[in-house]
Amino acid sequence: MARPTRAILNLDALRHNLGVARAAAPNTQVMAVVKANAYGHGALTIARALEPMVDALAVAAIEEALALREAGVAARILLLEGPFSADELTLCAVHNFAVVVASEQQLLWLEAATLPVPVTAWMKIDTGMHRLGVAPELAGDFHRRLRDCPNVADEVVSCTHFASADELDGGQTREQLALFERVTATLPGPRSTANSPAVLAWPAAHYDWIRPGYMLYGDSPFAVPQANADQLRPVMTLRSEIIALRDVPAGETVGYGATWRAARDSRIATVTVGYGDGYPRTAANGTPVLVRGQRAALAGRVSMDMITVDVTDIALVAIGDEAVLWGEGLPVGEIARHAGTIGYELLTRMPARTPRLAVGH
Ligand SMILES: *Cc1c(COP(=O)(O)O)cnc(C)c1O
Repeated sequence: MARPTRAILNLDALRHNLGVARAAAPNTQVMAVVKANAYGHGALTIARALEPMVDALAVAAIEEALALREAGVAARILLLEGPFSADELTLCAVHNFAVVVASEQQLLWLEAATLPVPVTAWMKIDTGMHRLGVAPELAGDFHRRLRDCPNVADEVVSCTHFASADELDGGQTREQLALFERVTATLPGPRSTANSPAVLAWPAAHYDWIRPGYMLYGDSPFAVPQANADQLRPVMTLRSEIIALRDVPAGETVGYGATWRAARDSRIATVTVGYGDGYPRTAANGTPVLVRGQRAALAGRVSMDMITVDVTDIALVAIGDEAVLWGEGLPVGEIARHAGTIGYELLTRMPARTPRLAVGH
């Protein structure tokens, strides 16, 4: 008695994927990245499932960290962009949030603060991404100021972020690693560089802490097969059901703008999922949809609440049959390529409207 459109979350797959990260990088601590509502899956569900199994969590901003704390998540949490204003530092100290310190401005806030307890600092070095971080030639002095700052607890972690780690033969990653190694070789404290593709394919990047995000949700960050990535299992399966079926004669068109024309007499299934549920409107004619476990092809433009699928070649299709839009048996990254984007974006922009249903334990 409700619309059958759901994002099923397989928490056993989540734990399996964490195991893939640990097996690929056996001697490191693991910081699981749960920013952007855990890549659209639901931050609290994912954080609660991962908390007992990881060494820390990471989010983009303090409001994400506070929401987890207020819901009872006790893990250490890192703010990946650091504080956005000086007054956030007091909350970080109170709630045990570690902060990235990536600019002179953020360091000055930290040096000028009066905190109830010190905070853990992750110094971010700009090794070539040119988005955030301290210039390599300034990193030694910056690190010394952090160590000397009474508001800074523990050891200072040195970190950087890769621009192209998903390119398996990437020269840029090799250059960034060499620069990071040169700048940090003499600095005390732990080091961290690896996002998902580096966890899976760049062992030299593992250091003391890995920071997997996307891979935990079970899709490969690579465009080509890769042994570790190919073991991942999708956490989210976006599924719905067929609510109508019709025969469309050759020559007729389907959907808004009449972008799909039947080349033969066709059987068209209408599935109740659309861009209002997170299925991308840019998905092109021919994008695969699983119907009765078989691949059918999107036929016509994606509507807000419905899509139309050519099921002519699938036997025994009936109203009420399940349709899988991505997830088990159909990688979200593949759908993303048909829609001109990446799986990260499709997952992250999943709207609140689509019910999440966690299974597994
Ligand atoms: C988002 C993010 C990650 C995780 O990246 P994935 O490609 O999703 O694994 C790691 N480190 C930083 C700094 C990030 O912002």
